[in-house]
Amino acid sequence: MREHVIAVIPGDGIGPEVIASGLEVLQGLAQKVGGFHLNIEKFPWGSDYYKKHGAMMPKDGLDRLRDFNAIYFGAVGGPDVPDDITLWGLRLAICQGFDQYVNLRPTRILQGLSSPLRDCKRGDLDWVIVRENSEGEYAGQGGRAHRGFPEEVGTETAIFTRRGVTRIMRFAFKLAQERPRKLLTVVTKSNAQRHGMVMWDEIATEVAKEFPDVTWDKMLVDAMTTRMVGKPSSLDTIVATNLHADILSDLAAALAGSLGIAPTANLDPEMRFPSMFEPIHGAAFDITGKGIANPVGASWTGALMLEHLGEKDAAHQLMQAVERVTASGIHTPDLGGIATTREVTAAVCDAIHSSKV
Ligand code: ATP
Repeated sequence: MREHVIAVIPGDGIGPEVIASGLEVLQGLAQKVGGFHLNIEKFPWGSDYYKKHGAMMPKDGLDRLRDFNAIYFGAVGGPDVPDDITLWGLRLAICQGFDQYVNLRPTRILQGLSSPLRDCKRGDLDWVIVRENSEGEYAGQGGRAHRGFPEEVGTETAIFTRRGVTRIMRFAFKLAQERPRKLLTVVTKSNAQRHGMVMWDEIATEVAKEFPDVTWDKMLVDAMTTRMVGKPSSLDTIVATNLHADILSDLAAALAGSLGIAPTANLDPEMRFPSMFEPIHGAAFDITGKGIANPVGASWTGALMLEHLGEKDAAHQLMQAVERVTASGIHTPDLGGIATTREVTAAVCDAIHSSKV
């Protein structure tokens, strides 16, 4: 029996609701498929922890996570804790501390769902966004001076390193090569940002030579938004900087139906550290505690985690079960339905249970 040791950080807002759903689904799946076991340990870190302890996680938080095979994460953010504290104190601290330099965001239209784009059919939107996750605009470089005075200054410096850009380009080209269409779009803004972004383009051209069978093109990020909306089927694998991909992937999730369905993997491809898996959505306080959070993103996230752990067959079965449920019309209100988180969870568990293995 293969054992995978998983650290679970449900976090804030709807995080605990969707993670509870995801865990129920994953445990049911493990029982059904057999051959592997998930050993779960929960960590109550997040905004409530911050209010009690003055930090989002303990000082030795990273050390406590280090030996896990993966981290399953809900969401962070509190209405009464500044966003930069919640983000930098937990999520980014883990991503950067474990050098999870790839943020992978698959997006497609699941069965039974439709895009808000009028003519976009299911197969027209099947993308994977590769987000640089360790530097760029979110490198944390900058500062404030003369606070409160009229001459106050705030700087936010984007950092691009040859090493950082090369490794994300290589990952993206390789992923594109493994997908049937072998098609990569490199998102840039080198017309206006003429240092780091020009280097980004140059490195893309260099790395492309290692992947002669991958067709690739370059798009300015502003033009990319119109292409995503206007010609979704012209895209497949997409690589972009930390900030650009952050924005584009929210757009991608909305175009595929809802923010509530999309998953993310924060990967250390070299497996030196645990990778972290989370739904793309945030804490969503407007619906917290109402029992209507869409748990599909958390289930899809679980499938990404299983794939990373080498349980490809189980991951495939999980997505088939999720799509049987979305196809059957059991939808939460964000997808126009009336189902609760519990009802969708129960339906996915039933679909797993009744599937032929
Ligand atoms: P953050 O700033 O951390 O991204 P947020 O709470 O501002 O978080 P999101 O959580 O990203 O925003 O989501 C924006 C809105 O989308 C929410 O307010 C909510 O209405 C809706 N939403 C997000 N996730 C879900 C979900 N799983 N189920 C249903 N609705 C969702």
